[in-house]
Amino acid sequence: MSKTKITNIILTFLFGVLSLTSCNNGVDDLTMFLDTKEVLYEEISVQMGTEYWNLYSGKAIPDLKTPKQRYADLFTNDTLNNLVDEWYNKRSKIKNTILKRRIEVWHNILTAAKINYSNENLELQNELENWLSKEDKTDEMPTQDEMNAKAIKLMQLRNSKAKTLGYENYGELILDVTEIKMDWLLNFADVINKRTLDPYQKLVDDYQLDENKTEFNFSDAMILIRKYYANQLVPEVTGDSIRIGMKMILDKIGFDYDNLPVQFVENEMPPGVGGQGIAVQIPNDFRVALLPGMDFQTWMHELGHGLQAMHTTIQSPILKEYEWSLGSGCGGFSEGMAEVSAKISLNTEWIINYPQYPKMK
Ligand SMILES: [Zn+2]
Repeated sequence: MSKTKITNIILTFLFGVLSLTSCNNGVDDLTMFLDTKEVLYEEISVQMGTEYWNLYSGKAIPDLKTPKQRYADLFTNDTLNNLVDEWYNKRSKIKNTILKRRIEVWHNILTAAKINYSNENLELQNELENWLSKEDKTDEMPTQDEMNAKAIKLMQLRNSKAKTLGYENYGELILDVTEIKMDWLLNFADVINKRTLDPYQKLVDDYQLDENKTEFNFSDAMILIRKYYANQLVPEVTGDSIRIGMKMILDKIGFDYDNLPVQFVENEMPPGVGGQGIAVQIPNDFRVALLPGMDFQTWMHELGHGLQAMHTTIQSPILKEYEWSLGSGCGGFSEGMAEVSAKISLNTEWIINYPQYPKMK
């Protein structure tokens, strides 16, 4: 072997070692960088949760602006965006699956933030949210037409910005960053449609025959909805029985209800909101605010959100699914979890197995 050849081999080997080390260093640097940003991310998320709790519980005057601005500053950080973009494109090379997932979730959040935290969008969103959550309608409040125009403007802004990111519209972007994906949703709708069309048609035919009708319109549909869905035979649990009922159900499943880090308050809520579960700090601080007099099912639904948050054990804050940033998790999954809990309250077979179940009205 010639001297040049040996030198070449040694050089190749050295470059190999160097590039390997720099590759590892890249991952280490990335991990350290994300660790720091995620500490900040969680701190802002806790602040945001606390302020939303103030809004819904009425415990203090909320300041939603500050954490929103802090999120905006974090999500528009150039170094963070460049690094996440760079690693997202070569994520298949990341061996550590948790690190890989962190990159994917950061990418989802930063993609959505390019729209929701752009200055113009944020301003309009804040303005609308502010007016819509006001109970006292003051003179300065925009008219209904002006509000409608603002909402349309916001939708147009979101759509045009989504297009610049390569999406058909804002809806497609949301389905993408929540990892539901447009194709999946359309396919799913198709499956539901195919499987329900025959029984639905039979129901409509029978109804028309019984009622001697030739047409079937919205009010007819509502009659059937009330008959088969809204008026299901469900136990009506109210007042203190709600808390007793929740404890009984959860303890029986195997949760230690009394030691769950959860608290409930009843309070007047912004218009259109019945109950709101808030994961202030995941997994150690979950709070629920509900409009007085909400039904047992709603309490169990919010508690279901809590069960997800209070049993999230992942360490990385970006993977905990704080709900304040679009792209941090899948709302469809979380609502599913909450409904699993809510539906227990409708399960009469389950309920009658508990003779000591709180008095039903
Ligand atoms: Zn929910």
